[in-house]
Amino acid sequence: VADSGPGNQLAGGLATRLATGLAAAFPADLLRTSDADRARYETDHRRRYHGRALGVALPRTTDDVSRLLAWCNERGVGVVPQGGNTGYCGGATPDASGTQLVLCLERMNRVRSVDAPNLSMTAEAGCLLADVQAAAAGAGCFFPLELGSAGSCQLGGNLATNAGGLNVLRYGMTRSLVLGIEAVLPDGRVYEGLRALRKDNTGYDLRSLLVGSEGTLGVITAATLRLWPARRSTATAFVALPSPAAALALLQLLRGRCDDRLESFELLPRIALELVRRHVPGTASPFAEAPPWSVLCELASPAIEPLGELLQSVLADALAAGIASDAVLATSGSQRLALWAVRENVPEAQKRGGPGLRHDISVPVALIPRFVEEAGAELARRVPNATLVGYGHLGDGNLHFNLNWFAGAAPGEVEAAELPVRRYVHDLVAAYGGSFSAEHGVGQSKREELARYGSPVGLATMRALKRAFDPNGIMNPGKVL
Ligand SMILES: Cc1cc2nc3c(=O)[nH]c(=O)nc-3n(C[C@H](O)[C@H](O)[C@H](O)COP(=O)(O)OP(=O)(O)OC[C@H]3O[C@@H](n4cnc5c(N)ncnc54)[C@H](O)[C@@H]3O)c2cc1C
Repeated sequence: VADSGPGNQLAGGLATRLATGLAAAFPADLLRTSDADRARYETDHRRRYHGRALGVALPRTTDDVSRLLAWCNERGVGVVPQGGNTGYCGGATPDASGTQLVLCLERMNRVRSVDAPNLSMTAEAGCLLADVQAAAAGAGCFFPLELGSAGSCQLGGNLATNAGGLNVLRYGMTRSLVLGIEAVLPDGRVYEGLRALRKDNTGYDLRSLLVGSEGTLGVITAATLRLWPARRSTATAFVALPSPAAALALLQLLRGRCDDRLESFELLPRIALELVRRHVPGTASPFAEAPPWSVLCELASPAIEPLGELLQSVLADALAAGIASDAVLATSGSQRLALWAVRENVPEAQKRGGPGLRHDISVPVALIPRFVEEAGAELARRVPNATLVGYGHLGDGNLHFNLNWFAGAAPGEVEAAELPVRRYVHDLVAAYGGSFSAEHGVGQSKREELARYGSPVGLATMRALKRAFDPNGIMNPGKVL
């Protein structure tokens, strides 16, 4: 945009004409157009992606969204849906042309209904995830999606990215938590699919298609969610282990003995605990000295049952078998939160620790120990100045396999390493039958990866679906495909 070449002058002229047309067609209250008002919607939360929007639309109703999309569709104006803007792949950031409209759902934040006997609730896309959880809890129910960003991400963003998080082991990804969807298609028609049914085999599943579509097929305006009975018992422990192989053995032991009471199983290397201790003051350390590896695990149940005793007995067996070397069990709600804070502060501690590269990978769970060993050794050889911080949702076979330069990096060092390291990690992931994007999506940052690793037949089918939904290509241009 700073460039004043003929292409940009052309885009600038178009942007001015579109802005005038938009302002004439919609009330001022619906739009934000000044530089200052647009700024926070034009950059992602990590400040990696920057764009310039034609304007920011803040609809209050599904009908507002419908009229905005119809207007954009008639003129071929690109629309970038945005929720809480906490995504990791630049999916909610407009391009730099000044001709794309950011459509943020933050004002559509009403919980429309909670139906406790049916274990379901209907909420608008702009609800904060934390508010959805609280509304479910207020009705004696439980909505199990749990992310570190719950206080700022929105239900629409969770659905559009098919978010994963901390309870996937027991409840699945966001897609498996949704019964129905309301969405506005690019031409402004409203798909009214807010059904609260467990069984509904009536043709193609548009709900599943819209979930995970990252704003490229339409705008999700509301959803009917599955709820579970409130949890009445929990047991949480931090367990010290010698290796990822031992963590896998513990996972098997817990599954065998606790069945689906096991809800979370998070793996952390020593460096992750050290980083939290160093960079997030006030976070309690579970162990006097950080062990080589540790696991944060949690059991939960809607029944009142002695889960603490169950967990203690499994961990005693793990200690006796040499699988674990130490364990800390939470004995109160506040201790439980303190243990979780260690896990949840890892991304922040890592960010404060130094510049880095991120990979959100998954491989079949049983292959995690081999993958960590092979990739860890090779990365230490290829990028000796960087430290591997591979942590995350071991129970789902999903690790955030990041590298950081804690001693600082020479100018351009991280940028120079980015592509070769990504290629090495993602090629290895592919060889293990894994995914280069386990839970964060594709957005703009992993579009080339999808083109490289996606199945040709799958990609062709995705393009055909995109054309069928969005023949004018207005929805989130330049993302995913
Ligand atoms: C501290 C932290 C922890 C996190 N932990 C996790 C984690 O454990 N697991 C995980 O999966 N992610 C995690 N994330 C990433 C992020 O929070 C999720 O991807 C979240 O689902 C994004 O929601 P959002 O409302 O911020 O969406 P945004 O970032 O605003 O948008 C994400 C994508 O969805 C599209 N979109 C948004 N709203 C709509 C809509 N209404 N209709 C259609 N498309 C829409 C956007 O165009 C974009 O492509 C974390 C992020 C942070 C900062």
